[in-house]
Amino acid sequence: MPSFLLKNIGELVSLSPLAEEQRFIHLREDDLGSIKDAWLYCEDGKVVDFGQSPPPESLLNSSSTHQIDAKQGLVLPGFVDSHTHPIFFGNRSNEFKMRLDGVSYQEIAERGGGIMATVRASREASDEQLLAETLKHFKQFLAHGVTTVEAKSGYGLSPDEEIRHLRVLKKAAVQTDQEVKITCLALHAIPKEYASASTYVSAVCEHLLPIVAQDSLADYVDAFIESGYFSAEDCKPYFKKASELGLGIRVHADEFTDASAAEAAADWKAASADHLQFVSETGLKAMSKKGVVACILPGTSLYTAIPFTSGRRLADADCAVAIASDFNPGSCNLENLPMLAILAGLHGKLKSWEVIAGITLVPALSLGLSKQKRALAKSYDADFCIHDFTSLDEWFADFGRKKPREVWLRGVKWGS
Ligand SMILES: [Zn+2]
Repeated sequence: MPSFLLKNIGELVSLSPLAEEQRFIHLREDDLGSIKDAWLYCEDGKVVDFGQSPPPESLLNSSSTHQIDAKQGLVLPGFVDSHTHPIFFGNRSNEFKMRLDGVSYQEIAERGGGIMATVRASREASDEQLLAETLKHFKQFLAHGVTTVEAKSGYGLSPDEEIRHLRVLKKAAVQTDQEVKITCLALHAIPKEYASASTYVSAVCEHLLPIVAQDSLADYVDAFIESGYFSAEDCKPYFKKASELGLGIRVHADEFTDASAAEAAADWKAASADHLQFVSETGLKAMSKKGVVACILPGTSLYTAIPFTSGRRLADADCAVAIASDFNPGSCNLENLPMLAILAGLHGKLKSWEVIAGITLVPALSLGLSKQKRALAKSYDADFCIHDFTSLDEWFADFGRKKPREVWLRGVKWGS
């Protein structure tokens, strides 16, 4: 892989101070490591050096170094979307209208809509159809600069269907260009075929999780801990089994009520607890103590008119705060992570530098990647985007409308 010098950068946001310290709380503006009028030098898909212009003569005069003109563009690390539901079939546009007409998410579910509507359509779809749909979403994420994506199953909701969906996700992860981490969200809703949450959880522990681990179908498991779905108590055997099998844990936590999900996430040392509109102070303290990343999902608030999570409250409780899209067919059909991140900043009172860290290094931490990805620090993967803005200020003000001009993955321009 050739070496290259990216020069004439309008602004380079490296996040190298945070990457070097591996610090994810108490963020400050200078943690962005922003350099105006900068250059970036990469070799073998890794960042080797960067600095303020002009670049060293040795690089400018090197015949083996490819010279690339950034044309005064803004260079940001590739983004991480650490919470998505990209494998599904069918569409639920009728529900959006119902919500406009005043029907709540819970009422829609009671009328046979919601998650179960997607489960029915997805169970009927072939592997090929599911694969094609998933790849289409991955491509959209990448077009918005998302170079790492966490992808959950959860619309199979039986051991056999979940396994089928996870195998398709694994195939999609190989075929797509960005990095994908897979999560088995077997506890997304209680399927009608099972008499209770506990009988379904037992089936999952007995017939699903061992195969997930044996065939390396997922990196994590996830559960929707919420009133009407699964209680923290229901999830105990599931998290125990997952931990024994070496799978990490993520949690849909306290979105509609305080369901003590944050406390459960801390007890099980989850990598991430997501949503958190109604998290308790005790839950937050426990998460901070155990280093559980707090992930906010502003898209579902925008799409379903539920309250926005206060990112400020989470950050002030010394939790590392990530921002993700929660892309899914019902409550947030938006792949535009930059737009959602800016929205999270505005409504959740996060500072601009917390927004940038929240879609790069912090979610990378929750996926175990923060030491090699999502900063442009020395020896980090050369995954970055060149944006048609001369400064980060302009990027924020654009509110995610403009996709990046170029997306680079491990030192190679996407689509080239
Ligand atoms: Zn979700």
